[in-house]
Amino acid sequence: MSDNTNIEWTEATWSPVTGCTKVSAGCLNCYIERTRPFRMAHRRFDGDGIGGTTGVQLHPVRLRIPLRWRKPKRIFVCSMADLFHDEVPDDYIADVFAVMAANYCWDRPTHTFQVVTKRHARMRSLLSSEDFRKAVARTSAGMTDDAHADNVHDAVYFHYWPLPNVHLIVTAEDQKQAELRIPVLLDTPAAVRGVSLEPLLSPIKLTHMDVEGRAPGMYQINALTGRNTDMGRPCPDVAHLDWVIVGGESGGRGARPMHPDWARSLRDQCQAAGVPFLFKQWGEWTPERYLDPRPAKYSRTYMRADGTAAAFGGDGYGPDDALARVGKKRAGRELDGRTWDQYPETVTV
Ligand code: SF4
Repeated sequence: MSDNTNIEWTEATWSPVTGCTKVSAGCLNCYIERTRPFRMAHRRFDGDGIGGTTGVQLHPVRLRIPLRWRKPKRIFVCSMADLFHDEVPDDYIADVFAVMAANYCWDRPTHTFQVVTKRHARMRSLLSSEDFRKAVARTSAGMTDDAHADNVHDAVYFHYWPLPNVHLIVTAEDQKQAELRIPVLLDTPAAVRGVSLEPLLSPIKLTHMDVEGRAPGMYQINALTGRNTDMGRPCPDVAHLDWVIVGGESGGRGARPMHPDWARSLRDQCQAAGVPFLFKQWGEWTPERYLDPRPAKYSRTYMRADGTAAAFGGDGYGPDDALARVGKKRAGRELDGRTWDQYPETVTV
């Protein structure tokens, strides 16, 4: 936890929980065990595949840390955990939200809290629950003095739900996970909704998404505009994404490459819909033709835009299908000659 971080889309991290369990392909090279706190504590995942876990630890002494920061910050909540992990009790998640509520209601400056999860179902169920909202209002009221407690309680319970300073972000690595997690996010009370498509492992269409439990191709959502259709007929709009982050995989021996067309397509989808787009990084791999000058040594792989292996100069081989492993720093974060650093609007009070 730190009020200074090199994660591109945030300014500080806050870790009232640490440790996690791998839930999908995007977790396979999870960075948390390579972070300093985990290395120092010898905390490692107990397996490489889905289900591997570091165990989860709660750190109640850290709960009030953001209330001590005197400059407004974008704060990544639980950068080394998933707040909605099964092993984090409901009451503790309510405590975390109570701190964010307290920051909005009576503390200054107002921070922007970025809550990132792959546990979309629990997120929706808690944030839609009356009991959870009551617990957040009660706990945030208990954090102020008696004279103001009732005001804070009522402000949170009646006026500031969903909390205006909390951005909810789900992550997804491919179309399947995007279709599982994004529609649930769109159905969750939130002031700002985002998706982090990192590590991006295949092309993703946010404009035509099937929804779990509905016949594929029949009911479709455009997650960038909220428009949706049932058997081709327009339905009332739903919520839409306010922010899209895209990045390739970094770190770890097994870091997987991202084809540039996948990132370009997402940028173009966002631009067409007017949704802020942030290109976080290429990760370990970058298109070989971006390298100028080329380093003396690097490894190379060939992959078509559909994710299948390509052979150099072979059938269907395109100029961007040669990808070079040069490391995150060298690969950088320019897409087609520029950086993309767009953000959703934040509240200021
Ligand atoms: S959900 Fe996030 S923190 Fe947890 S294992 Fe997956 S990538 Fe790591």
